[in-house]
Amino acid sequence: MKKLYIIVFLLLLKLFSAQNFKIDTADYAKRKAFLELYKTRGEQFNKALKKKYSGQEARELVNVFTNFQKSVTEDIKDKMYSFDDRFVSYTKDRVNYIASKNPTIPTDFSILIAKDNEPNAYNFGDKTLVVNLGLFAFLNNEFEFDAIISHELAHQTLEHTIKKLIAKLNNDKDKKLEVSNLKRSGNRYDKAFELYKSLLYSNMKQRRKNEISADSLGFSYYKTTGLPIANYVQSLQLLKDFDDKKEDSIDVSIYKKVFNIPTQSFKEDWLKMEDFSKYNYKHYQEKVSQDSLKTHPDLEFRINLLKKNYPELATSNLNSQASPQFSLLSNLAKERLIPNFIESEKYGQGIYNCLAILEDNPDHKATKYYLGLLFNKIYDARKTYTLNRYLDKIEPTKQSRSYQQFLSFMWNLGVDEIKNIGQYYEKSEN
Ligand SMILES: [Zn+2]
Repeated sequence: MKKLYIIVFLLLLKLFSAQNFKIDTADYAKRKAFLELYKTRGEQFNKALKKKYSGQEARELVNVFTNFQKSVTEDIKDKMYSFDDRFVSYTKDRVNYIASKNPTIPTDFSILIAKDNEPNAYNFGDKTLVVNLGLFAFLNNEFEFDAIISHELAHQTLEHTIKKLIAKLNNDKDKKLEVSNLKRSGNRYDKAFELYKSLLYSNMKQRRKNEISADSLGFSYYKTTGLPIANYVQSLQLLKDFDDKKEDSIDVSIYKKVFNIPTQSFKEDWLKMEDFSKYNYKHYQEKVSQDSLKTHPDLEFRINLLKKNYPELATSNLNSQASPQFSLLSNLAKERLIPNFIESEKYGQGIYNCLAILEDNPDHKATKYYLGLLFNKIYDARKTYTLNRYLDKIEPTKQSRSYQQFLSFMWNLGVDEIKNIGQYYEKSEN
Protein backbone atom coordinates (compact mmCIF):
# COMPACT_ATOMS: atom_id res chain seq x y z
CA MET A 1 0.00 0.00 0.00
CA LYS A 2 1.32 3.40 -0.89
CA LYS A 3 1.34 5.63 2.12
CA LEU A 4 2.59 8.75 0.45
CA TYR A 5 0.89 10.32 -2.47
CA ILE A 6 3.13 13.32 -2.52
CA ILE A 7 6.63 12.20 -3.04
CA VAL A 8 8.61 13.75 -0.22
CA PHE A 9 11.65 14.79 -2.17
CA LEU A 10 9.41 17.14 -4.00
CA LEU A 11 10.57 19.76 -1.55
CA LEU A 12 14.08 19.37 -2.89
CA LEU A 13 12.92 19.60 -6.42
CA LYS A 14 14.83 22.07 -8.47
CA LEU A 15 12.65 23.94 -10.89
CA PHE A 16 12.53 22.01 -14.09
CA SER A 17 11.51 22.89 -17.58
CA ALA A 18 8.94 21.05 -19.61
CA GLN A 19 11.29 20.94 -22.56
CA ASN A 20 12.81 17.84 -21.03
CA PHE A 21 9.57 16.00 -21.42
CA LYS A 22 9.26 13.85 -24.49
CA ILE A 23 7.36 10.62 -24.72
CA ASP A 24 10.21 8.26 -25.27
CA THR A 25 9.73 7.03 -28.83
CA ALA A 26 13.54 7.12 -29.20
CA ASP A 27 13.73 4.31 -26.68
CA TYR A 28 12.04 1.92 -29.07
CA ALA A 29 15.23 0.34 -30.47
CA LYS A 30 16.79 -0.03 -27.04
CA ARG A 31 13.64 -1.59 -25.68
CA LYS A 32 13.58 -4.07 -28.52
CA ALA A 33 17.24 -5.01 -28.00
CA PHE A 34 16.66 -5.41 -24.28
CA LEU A 35 13.64 -7.66 -24.82
CA GLU A 36 15.69 -10.01 -27.01
CA LEU A 37 18.45 -10.26 -24.43
CA TYR A 38 15.92 -10.59 -21.63
CA LYS A 39 14.27 -13.50 -23.40
CA THR A 40 17.56 -15.35 -23.88
CA ARG A 41 18.59 -14.76 -20.29
CA GLY A 42 15.21 -15.88 -19.02
CA GLU A 43 15.49 -19.10 -20.98
CA GLN A 44 18.99 -19.69 -19.63
CA PHE A 45 17.85 -19.02 -16.10
CA ASN A 46 14.89 -21.38 -16.42
CA LYS A 47 17.13 -24.06 -17.88
CA ALA A 48 19.46 -23.78 -14.91
CA LEU A 49 16.46 -24.12 -12.59
CA LYS A 50 15.49 -27.36 -14.31
CA LYS A 51 18.97 -28.69 -13.69
CA LYS A 52 19.12 -27.67 -10.09
CA TYR A 53 15.68 -28.82 -9.05
CA SER A 54 13.78 -31.87 -10.15
CA GLY A 55 10.34 -33.26 -10.89
CA GLN A 56 7.23 -31.35 -9.93
CA GLU A 57 9.20 -28.68 -8.09
CA ALA A 58 11.32 -27.84 -11.14
CA ARG A 59 8.27 -27.80 -13.41
CA GLU A 60 6.34 -25.46 -11.15
CA LEU A 61 9.29 -23.13 -10.65
CA VAL A 62 9.92 -22.89 -14.37
CA ASN A 63 6.24 -22.33 -14.95
CA VAL A 64 6.10 -19.48 -12.46
CA PHE A 65 9.22 -17.77 -13.78
CA THR A 66 8.17 -18.19 -17.41
CA ASN A 67 4.85 -16.50 -16.70
CA PHE A 68 6.54 -13.90 -14.62
CA GLN A 69 8.95 -13.07 -17.43
CA LYS A 70 5.98 -12.75 -19.76
CA SER A 71 4.38 -10.17 -17.49
CA VAL A 72 7.64 -8.25 -17.23
CA THR A 73 7.84 -8.28 -21.04
CA GLU A 74 4.32 -6.93 -21.22
CA ASP A 75 5.17 -4.20 -18.71
CA ILE A 76 8.22 -3.28 -20.79
CA LYS A 77 6.07 -3.01 -23.91
CA ASP A 78 3.68 -0.88 -21.90
CA LYS A 79 6.59 1.54 -21.34
CA MET A 80 6.76 1.04 -17.62
CA TYR A 81 10.55 1.19 -17.79
CA SER A 82 12.98 3.79 -19.03
CA PHE A 83 15.74 2.80 -21.41
CA ASP A 84 17.71 5.96 -20.85
CA ASP A 85 21.30 4.72 -21.15
CA ARG A 86 22.60 7.07 -18.53
CA PHE A 87 20.69 5.29 -15.77
CA VAL A 88 21.04 1.80 -17.20
CA SER A 89 24.82 1.95 -17.79
CA TYR A 90 25.45 3.59 -14.46
CA THR A 91 23.58 0.84 -12.62
CA LYS A 92 25.30 -1.84 -14.67
CA ASP A 93 28.68 -0.29 -13.85
CA ARG A 94 27.93 -0.29 -10.14
CA VAL A 95 26.79 -3.93 -10.22
CA ASN A 96 29.92 -4.92 -12.12
CA TYR A 97 32.13 -2.98 -9.77
CA ILE A 98 30.69 -4.62 -6.66
CA ALA A 99 30.80 -8.03 -8.38
CA SER A 100 34.42 -7.50 -9.41
CA LYS A 101 35.39 -7.49 -5.73
CA ASN A 102 32.97 -10.28 -4.81
CA PRO A 103 33.35 -13.18 -7.26
CA THR A 104 30.27 -15.06 -6.01
CA ILE A 105 27.98 -12.34 -7.41
CA PRO A 106 26.74 -13.05 -10.93
CA THR A 107 27.25 -10.30 -13.48
CA ASP A 108 24.62 -11.24 -16.04
CA PHE A 109 21.83 -9.18 -14.50
CA SER A 110 19.09 -7.68 -16.59
CA ILE A 111 18.77 -4.13 -15.37
CA LEU A 112 15.49 -2.26 -15.55
CA ILE A 113 14.94 1.36 -14.59
CA ALA A 114 11.32 1.78 -13.53
CA LYS A 115 9.46 5.04 -14.15
CA ASP A 116 8.35 4.91 -10.56
CA ASN A 117 8.84 7.78 -8.12
CA GLU A 118 9.00 5.70 -4.98
CA PRO A 119 12.57 5.33 -3.68
CA ASN A 120 13.08 1.61 -4.05
CA ALA A 121 14.91 -1.21 -5.83
CA TYR A 122 13.88 -4.82 -6.35
CA ASN A 123 15.36 -8.10 -7.33
CA PHE A 124 12.80 -10.26 -9.09
CA GLY A 125 14.80 -13.41 -8.32
CA ASP A 126 15.79 -14.38 -11.86
CA LYS A 127 18.70 -11.96 -12.00
CA THR A 128 16.44 -9.09 -12.98
CA LEU A 129 17.34 -6.03 -10.98
CA VAL A 130 14.85 -3.17 -10.95
CA VAL A 131 15.83 0.32 -9.81
CA ASN A 132 13.16 2.99 -9.52
CA LEU A 133 13.96 6.44 -10.90
CA GLY A 134 12.71 7.63 -7.51
CA LEU A 135 15.72 6.02 -5.86
CA PHE A 136 18.08 8.16 -7.92
CA ALA A 137 16.08 11.25 -7.05
CA PHE A 138 15.94 10.43 -3.37
CA LEU A 139 19.48 9.33 -2.51
CA ASN A 140 22.34 11.76 -1.96
CA ASN A 141 25.25 9.90 -3.45
CA GLU A 142 26.67 6.79 -5.06
CA PHE A 143 27.67 5.23 -1.72
CA GLU A 144 24.05 5.04 -0.63
CA PHE A 145 23.16 3.75 -4.08
CA ASP A 146 25.85 1.04 -3.90
CA ALA A 147 24.59 0.05 -0.47
CA ILE A 148 21.08 -0.58 -1.80
CA ILE A 149 22.47 -2.43 -4.82
CA SER A 150 24.67 -4.62 -2.56
CA HIS A 151 21.62 -5.56 -0.53
CA GLU A 152 19.67 -6.49 -3.68
CA LEU A 153 22.59 -8.52 -5.04
CA ALA A 154 22.66 -10.42 -1.75
CA HIS A 155 18.99 -11.37 -2.24
CA GLN A 156 20.01 -12.93 -5.55
CA THR A 157 22.99 -14.90 -4.23
CA LEU A 158 20.86 -16.12 -1.34
CA GLU A 159 18.13 -17.12 -3.85
CA HIS A 160 15.43 -15.66 -1.63
CA THR A 161 12.75 -15.46 -4.30
CA ILE A 162 13.25 -19.07 -5.37
CA LYS A 163 13.18 -20.28 -1.78
CA LYS A 164 10.01 -18.31 -1.08
CA LEU A 165 8.42 -19.76 -4.18
CA ILE A 166 9.27 -23.30 -3.15
CA ALA A 167 7.85 -22.71 0.31
CA LYS A 168 4.70 -21.27 -1.22
CA LEU A 169 4.34 -24.13 -3.67
CA ASN A 170 4.64 -26.63 -0.84
CA ASN A 171 2.21 -24.71 1.31
CA ASP A 172 -0.63 -24.48 -1.12
CA LYS A 173 -0.16 -27.52 -3.24
CA ASP A 174 -3.77 -27.77 -4.28
CA LYS A 175 -3.98 -24.11 -5.15
CA LYS A 176 -2.05 -23.31 -8.29
CA LEU A 177 -0.04 -20.13 -8.29
CA GLU A 178 -2.16 -18.10 -10.62
CA VAL A 179 0.62 -16.07 -12.05
CA SER A 180 -0.67 -15.38 -15.49
CA ASN A 181 -4.22 -14.81 -14.37
CA LEU A 182 -3.34 -12.05 -12.01
CA LYS A 183 -6.15 -9.54 -12.16
CA ARG A 184 -5.40 -6.13 -13.45
CA SER A 185 -5.69 -3.62 -10.68
CA GLY A 186 -6.70 0.01 -11.09
CA ASN A 187 -3.50 0.73 -12.89
CA ARG A 188 -2.64 -1.47 -15.80
CA TYR A 189 1.08 -1.28 -15.16
CA ASP A 190 1.18 -3.24 -11.96
CA LYS A 191 1.07 -6.74 -13.32
CA ALA A 192 4.48 -8.32 -12.78
CA PHE A 193 5.01 -6.08 -9.89
CA GLU A 194 1.87 -7.02 -8.00
CA LEU A 195 2.78 -10.64 -8.44
CA TYR A 196 6.23 -10.05 -7.05
CA LYS A 197 4.81 -8.12 -4.12
CA SER A 198 2.21 -10.74 -3.29
CA LEU A 199 5.04 -13.22 -3.09
CA LEU A 200 7.21 -10.91 -1.07
CA TYR A 201 4.59 -9.99 1.47
CA SER A 202 3.02 -13.41 1.79
CA ASN A 203 4.99 -14.27 4.88
CA MET A 204 6.15 -11.32 6.96
CA LYS A 205 8.17 -13.42 9.37
CA GLN A 206 10.17 -15.06 6.61
CA ARG A 207 10.52 -11.74 4.89
CA ARG A 208 12.10 -10.22 7.95
CA LYS A 209 14.59 -13.10 8.11
CA ASN A 210 15.44 -12.63 4.45
CA GLU A 211 15.93 -8.91 4.87
CA ILE A 212 18.27 -9.46 7.78
CA SER A 213 20.41 -11.96 5.91
CA ALA A 214 20.46 -9.74 2.79
CA ASP A 215 21.51 -6.79 4.98
CA SER A 216 24.32 -8.82 6.41
CA LEU A 217 25.63 -10.34 3.17
CA GLY A 218 25.06 -7.03 1.38
CA PHE A 219 27.15 -5.31 4.03
CA SER A 220 29.97 -7.77 3.48
CA TYR A 221 29.85 -7.16 -0.31
CA TYR A 222 29.81 -3.45 0.25
CA LYS A 223 32.66 -3.50 2.76
CA THR A 224 34.86 -5.68 0.56
CA THR A 225 34.40 -3.13 -2.19
CA GLY A 226 36.09 -0.56 0.04
CA LEU A 227 33.18 1.87 0.23
CA PRO A 228 32.60 4.01 3.37
CA ILE A 229 30.66 1.67 5.66
CA ALA A 230 28.70 4.33 7.52
CA ASN A 231 26.87 5.06 4.28
CA TYR A 232 25.51 1.52 4.21
CA VAL A 233 23.44 2.18 7.32
CA GLN A 234 22.69 5.69 6.13
CA SER A 235 20.90 4.32 3.06
CA LEU A 236 18.55 2.35 5.32
CA GLN A 237 18.11 5.35 7.58
CA LEU A 238 17.02 7.48 4.62
CA LEU A 239 14.43 4.91 3.56
CA LYS A 240 13.17 4.80 7.11
CA ASP A 241 12.84 8.61 7.16
CA PHE A 242 10.85 8.34 3.94
CA ASP A 243 8.40 5.90 5.53
CA ASP A 244 8.16 7.90 8.73
CA LYS A 245 7.25 11.19 7.10
CA LYS A 246 3.97 12.55 8.29
CA GLU A 247 0.90 12.25 6.15
CA ASP A 248 1.01 14.21 2.96
CA SER A 249 -1.05 17.34 2.85
CA ILE A 250 -1.82 20.24 0.55
CA ASP A 251 -3.83 23.24 1.65
CA VAL A 252 -7.41 23.41 0.43
CA SER A 253 -6.88 27.04 -0.69
CA ILE A 254 -4.77 25.80 -3.62
CA TYR A 255 -7.91 24.67 -5.49
CA LYS A 256 -9.32 28.17 -5.79
CA LYS A 257 -5.93 29.58 -6.73
CA VAL A 258 -5.35 27.09 -9.51
CA PHE A 259 -8.85 26.39 -10.78
CA ASN A 260 -10.37 29.84 -10.89
CA ILE A 261 -9.35 30.52 -14.50
CA PRO A 262 -10.36 33.23 -17.00
CA THR A 263 -12.42 30.75 -19.02
CA GLN A 264 -14.24 29.25 -16.03
CA SER A 265 -14.97 30.50 -12.51
CA PHE A 266 -14.29 28.38 -9.50
CA LYS A 267 -17.26 26.63 -7.88
CA GLU A 268 -17.28 25.97 -4.14
CA ASP A 269 -19.34 22.84 -4.85
CA TRP A 270 -16.29 21.19 -6.36
CA LEU A 271 -14.81 20.86 -2.90
CA LYS A 272 -17.77 18.99 -1.40
CA MET A 273 -16.82 15.78 0.33
CA GLU A 274 -18.89 12.84 1.37
CA ASP A 275 -19.29 12.36 5.07
CA PHE A 276 -17.00 9.54 6.06
CA SER A 277 -17.26 10.18 9.79
CA LYS A 278 -19.03 6.87 10.20
CA TYR A 279 -15.70 5.20 9.67
CA ASN A 280 -13.86 4.49 12.84
CA TYR A 281 -10.33 5.28 11.72
CA LYS A 282 -8.67 4.19 14.90
CA HIS A 283 -10.33 0.84 14.70
CA TYR A 284 -9.04 0.32 11.19
CA GLN A 285 -5.56 1.54 11.96
CA GLU A 286 -5.20 -0.81 14.89
CA LYS A 287 -6.24 -3.72 12.78
CA VAL A 288 -3.49 -3.18 10.27
CA SER A 289 0.04 -3.71 11.46
CA GLN A 290 2.01 -0.50 11.20
CA ASP A 291 4.82 -2.26 9.40
CA SER A 292 2.58 -3.63 6.70
CA LEU A 293 1.73 -0.06 5.71
CA LYS A 294 5.34 0.78 5.17
CA THR A 295 7.21 0.48 1.93
CA HIS A 296 10.24 -0.80 3.81
CA PRO A 297 9.15 -2.57 6.99
CA ASP A 298 11.38 -3.43 9.91
CA LEU A 299 13.95 -0.79 9.10
CA GLU A 300 14.53 0.38 12.63
CA PHE A 301 15.09 -3.17 13.78
CA ARG A 302 17.42 -3.88 10.87
CA ILE A 303 19.48 -0.73 11.42
CA ASN A 304 19.97 -1.55 15.09
CA LEU A 305 20.90 -5.11 14.31
CA LEU A 306 23.55 -4.01 11.83
CA LYS A 307 25.02 -1.64 14.40
CA LYS A 308 25.07 -4.39 16.98
CA ASN A 309 26.65 -6.97 14.69
CA TYR A 310 29.22 -4.63 13.21
CA PRO A 311 30.61 -2.46 16.02
CA GLU A 312 33.05 -0.83 13.58
CA LEU A 313 30.05 1.12 12.27
CA ALA A 314 30.05 3.22 15.45
CA THR A 315 33.44 4.75 14.68
CA SER A 316 33.11 5.14 10.93
CA ASN A 317 32.39 8.43 9.21
CA LEU A 318 29.74 9.23 6.70
CA ASN A 319 30.92 10.35 3.28
CA SER A 320 28.32 12.80 2.10
CA GLN A 321 29.95 13.84 -1.15
CA ALA A 322 28.26 13.07 -4.40
CA SER A 323 30.13 12.57 -7.66
CA PRO A 324 29.10 14.86 -10.54
CA GLN A 325 27.85 11.75 -12.31
CA PHE A 326 25.50 10.77 -9.52
CA SER A 327 24.29 14.35 -9.04
CA LEU A 328 23.45 14.58 -12.71
CA LEU A 329 21.41 11.36 -12.59
CA SER A 330 19.70 12.46 -9.40
CA ASN A 331 18.67 15.77 -10.96
CA LEU A 332 17.51 14.06 -14.13
CA ALA A 333 15.37 11.72 -12.05
CA LYS A 334 13.85 14.70 -10.23
CA GLU A 335 12.91 16.28 -13.55
CA ARG A 336 11.13 13.07 -14.47
CA LEU A 337 8.82 13.25 -11.45
CA ILE A 338 5.67 14.48 -13.21
CA PRO A 339 6.47 12.87 -16.60
CA ASN A 340 6.75 9.53 -14.76
CA PHE A 341 3.20 9.92 -13.53
CA ILE A 342 2.06 10.76 -17.06
CA GLU A 343 3.88 7.88 -18.71
CA SER A 344 2.77 5.34 -16.13
CA GLU A 345 -0.78 6.67 -16.49
CA LYS A 346 -1.11 7.64 -12.84
CA TYR A 347 -2.89 10.82 -13.90
CA GLY A 348 -4.63 11.48 -10.59
CA GLN A 349 -1.42 11.24 -8.59
CA GLY A 350 0.31 13.36 -11.19
CA ILE A 351 -2.22 16.18 -10.74
CA TYR A 352 -1.97 15.92 -6.96
CA ASN A 353 1.81 16.31 -7.17
CA CYS A 354 1.45 19.24 -9.60
CA LEU A 355 -0.75 20.99 -7.02
CA ALA A 356 1.88 20.38 -4.35
CA ILE A 357 4.53 21.99 -6.57
CA LEU A 358 2.26 24.93 -7.42
CA GLU A 359 1.68 25.58 -3.72
CA ASP A 360 5.33 26.60 -3.39
CA ASN A 361 5.90 27.80 -6.96
CA PRO A 362 2.61 29.24 -8.22
CA ASP A 363 4.06 30.46 -11.51
CA HIS A 364 6.02 27.39 -12.45
CA LYS A 365 5.39 27.07 -16.17
CA ALA A 366 6.39 23.46 -16.70
CA THR A 367 4.13 22.29 -13.90
CA LYS A 368 1.20 24.25 -15.32
CA TYR A 369 1.85 22.72 -18.70
CA TYR A 370 1.92 19.19 -17.20
CA LEU A 371 -1.28 20.01 -15.33
CA GLY A 372 -2.90 20.80 -18.69
CA LEU A 373 -1.65 17.55 -20.21
CA LEU A 374 -2.90 15.58 -17.23
CA PHE A 375 -6.36 17.18 -17.33
CA ASN A 376 -6.60 16.38 -21.03
CA LYS A 377 -5.85 12.75 -20.18
CA ILE A 378 -8.51 12.81 -17.46
CA TYR A 379 -10.94 14.34 -19.96
CA ASP A 380 -10.33 11.51 -22.45
CA ALA A 381 -10.82 8.96 -19.70
CA ARG A 382 -14.05 10.58 -18.54
CA LYS A 383 -15.43 10.53 -22.08
CA THR A 384 -14.70 6.82 -22.42
CA TYR A 385 -15.88 5.91 -18.90
CA THR A 386 -12.42 4.66 -17.93
CA LEU A 387 -11.57 7.22 -15.27
CA ASN A 388 -11.41 4.51 -12.59
CA ARG A 389 -8.20 3.32 -14.16
CA TYR A 390 -6.39 6.61 -13.74
CA LEU A 391 -7.92 8.21 -10.68
CA ASP A 392 -8.14 6.46 -7.31
CA LYS A 393 -11.42 5.87 -5.60
CA ILE A 394 -11.92 7.43 -2.19
CA GLU A 395 -10.90 5.02 0.54
CA PRO A 396 -11.18 6.83 3.88
CA THR A 397 -9.32 4.17 5.83
CA LYS A 398 -6.30 4.24 3.58
CA GLN A 399 -5.90 7.82 2.42
CA SER A 400 -4.96 11.07 4.07
CA ARG A 401 -7.68 13.69 4.49
CA SER A 402 -5.87 15.89 1.99
CA TYR A 403 -5.80 13.18 -0.65
CA GLN A 404 -9.48 12.42 -0.05
CA GLN A 405 -10.26 16.11 -0.55
CA PHE A 406 -8.32 15.98 -3.80
CA LEU A 407 -10.14 12.89 -5.05
CA SER A 408 -13.53 14.36 -4.11
CA PHE A 409 -12.66 17.48 -6.08
CA MET A 410 -11.64 15.47 -9.12
CA TRP A 411 -14.71 13.25 -9.06
CA ASN A 412 -16.96 16.31 -8.58
CA LEU A 413 -15.80 17.99 -11.78
CA GLY A 414 -18.05 17.80 -14.80
CA VAL A 415 -16.73 16.60 -18.12
CA ASP A 416 -16.74 20.07 -19.73
CA GLU A 417 -15.18 21.59 -16.66
CA ILE A 418 -12.30 19.14 -16.95
CA LYS A 419 -11.96 20.01 -20.63
CA ASN A 420 -11.77 23.75 -19.91
CA ILE A 421 -9.06 23.30 -17.29
CA GLY A 422 -7.00 21.11 -19.63
CA GLN A 423 -7.31 23.54 -22.51
CA TYR A 424 -6.37 26.51 -20.36
CA TYR A 425 -3.28 24.98 -18.81
CA GLU A 426 -1.86 23.16 -21.80
CA LYS A 427 -1.07 26.59 -23.25
CA SER A 428 1.08 27.46 -20.25
CA GLU A 429 4.35 26.49 -21.83
CA ASN A 430 4.25 29.41 -24.22
ZN1 LIG B 1 15.54 -6.56 0.68
